[in-house]
Amino acid sequence: MTTISCNVDLIEALTPTVNRVLLTPAQPVSFASGQYLQLCLSESDKRPFSIASIPGQSQLELHIGGAVADPYASQALAHLMQQHQLQQPVQAEIGLGNAQFRADSERPLILLAGGTGFSYIYSIAQAIAAARLDRPVFMYWGVREHSALYHADIMQAWAAQNSKYRFIPVIQNPDDSWQGRSGMVHEAVLNDFVSLEAYDIYVAGPFAMAGVVRSAFIEQGAQREHMFADAFAYI
Ligand SMILES: Cc1cc2nc3c(=O)[nH]c(=O)nc-3n(C[C@H](O)[C@H](O)[C@H](O)COP(=O)(O)OP(=O)(O)OC[C@H]3O[C@@H](n4cnc5c(N)ncnc54)[C@H](O)[C@@H]3O)c2cc1C
Repeated sequence: MTTISCNVDLIEALTPTVNRVLLTPAQPVSFASGQYLQLCLSESDKRPFSIASIPGQSQLELHIGGAVADPYASQALAHLMQQHQLQQPVQAEIGLGNAQFRADSERPLILLAGGTGFSYIYSIAQAIAAARLDRPVFMYWGVREHSALYHADIMQAWAAQNSKYRFIPVIQNPDDSWQGRSGMVHEAVLNDFVSLEAYDIYVAGPFAMAGVVRSAFIEQGAQREHMFADAFAYI
């Protein structure tokens, strides 16, 4: 873990409650795809956010927010906006977490995101494509409303690169125009795979979702040592 200073280059709305933030570190940074950073609001107030970008990119990308506006995200965002306006850097601890992408495995993959858990999965999906990995990848992204699928176009383009990559958006409360999958995202996975035994499974999203996924997936054959989620350490 290293503490770094970063310029806040951009804060832009992806949805009414989720913002995309781009940071430029003042020094070279070391992290693995799927790790997170802690934004230091003060010496004692540090908040984890998954890094949506991949190593080697000049900027660090974050997706901050959720379906419901809450102080966890809004206070972090207020700090970023203030430092941006003052043209002052923010401090972050980087290279955190144990749920980083394991590129050396030969197993097929399930990537499962709930809401802004997408940030973590997006980094891994980009790392897979950058390494031109030719393994089956099933990327599920569950959101409450259609409007929360802020990077659906990017993920459709990602899936189009390789016939082994699949992108499956799942909307919890769809309107009549939605023709895709609906319901809770983990249930879509449980419906699609008779057994999860063969898969490396990467998970990020609300803690309640991570808890349900851990037990329900293991019941359907998933091997705990092949399930990766930093949320598991918190629940
Ligand atoms: C290491 C770490 C990294 C984090 N990174 C970020 C980050 O990058 N950005 C950020 O804003 N916050 C982050 N957080 C905080 C927190 O994880 C998010 O605020 C949270 O995931 C936001 O969820 P949401 O509101 O987007 O999802 P929601 O809109 O609440 O849910 C999305 C989908 O998840 C599923 N789901 C939700 N609840 C349940 C349930 N009870 N049972 C089963 N399925 C359910 C459903 O399919 C639902 O449609 C992080 C926390 C930790 C510990």
